Amino acid sequence: MSLKVLIIEDNEQNMYMLTFLLRSANYEVLQAYNGFDGIEMSLSERPDIILLDIQLPEMDGYTVASTIREKPELAEVPMIAVTSYAMPGDREKAIESGATGYIEKPINPDTFISQMQSFLPANLTDRTT
Ligand code: MN
Repeated sequence: MSLKVLIIEDNEQNMYMLTFLLRSANYEVLQAYNGFDGIEMSLSERPDIILLDIQLPEMDGYTVASTIREKPELAEVPMIAVTSYAMPGDREKAIESGATGYIEKPINPDTFISQMQSFLPANLTDRTT
């Protein structure tokens, strides 16, 4: 059974690339283009993993992360922030907001999947092989 990944990302090109990489690695992908939809889909779809862009319009990724973490049913879901290399403060703030880890942009297609998997608990990585 493939793992379900919710991508919360407003940039069409990044969304396209992340979706392509994940589907190529046999993940099921759900897409949200803003934080409101992302929070709603987290609750309704119960993804196994959430990938969260930090720079989102209206509601930023920190707010999205802390809002998701406040929901008891989402307290444990691995949530990986995708942060800008140019913004070093983003990383600490993402973790403080509840992210499990972070991956820096620009996304490296060769290493992205293994970077993401490095943040998953063993019970999930077992299901990816
Ligand atoms: Mn963005």
